[in-house]
Amino acid sequence: MTKAEDNLMAWLRDAHAMEEQAETMLKALVGRTGEYPEVKALIEKHLTETQRQAESLEDCIKSRGGDTSTLKDVAGKMVAFGQGMSGMFVEDEIIKGAMASYTFEHMEAAAYRVLIAAAEAVGDGRTKAVCESILEEELSMASDLESHLPGLTRKYLTR
Ligand code: MG
Ligand code: FE
Repeated sequence: MTKAEDNLMAWLRDAHAMEEQAETMLKALVGRTGEYPEVKALIEKHLTETQRQAESLEDCIKSRGGDTSTLKDVAGKMVAFGQGMSGMFVEDEIIKGAMASYTFEHMEAAAYRVLIAAAEAVGDGRTKAVCESILEEELSMASDLESHLPGLTRKYLTR
């Protein structure tokens, strides 16, 4: 394998671990959105997208000849980051959670921009297309969170 192929495989695995972490985070957050139905719907929608993203990445790894049996092991890499975020669930947990989620979407977007360029470098059009489609979902979630943050804050402050 070339350096680019090696890196692409490693980054696809990292992205898969990132999506598993995202799933954990979104599940924790959705349980705390009871009083904020619009935000709850947003999180639930992205939770479904996130689960599909992990599956699509697994398909990319398989199609490039990668072993998917150890995929769950790498998820540990992101645990520290996730724990830092779950530690934020305090009195204003919904606000902290929404902020963390907004940050996480941008981190995901960065990962997919790198993956798109790497897939292009090795001529893997299928992986590139998958990552482009996931990138759109991350940017759309970031943008939705951005529009909900001020209203969520106002609602929180009046409770
Ligand atoms: Mg994602
Ligand atoms: Fe996301």
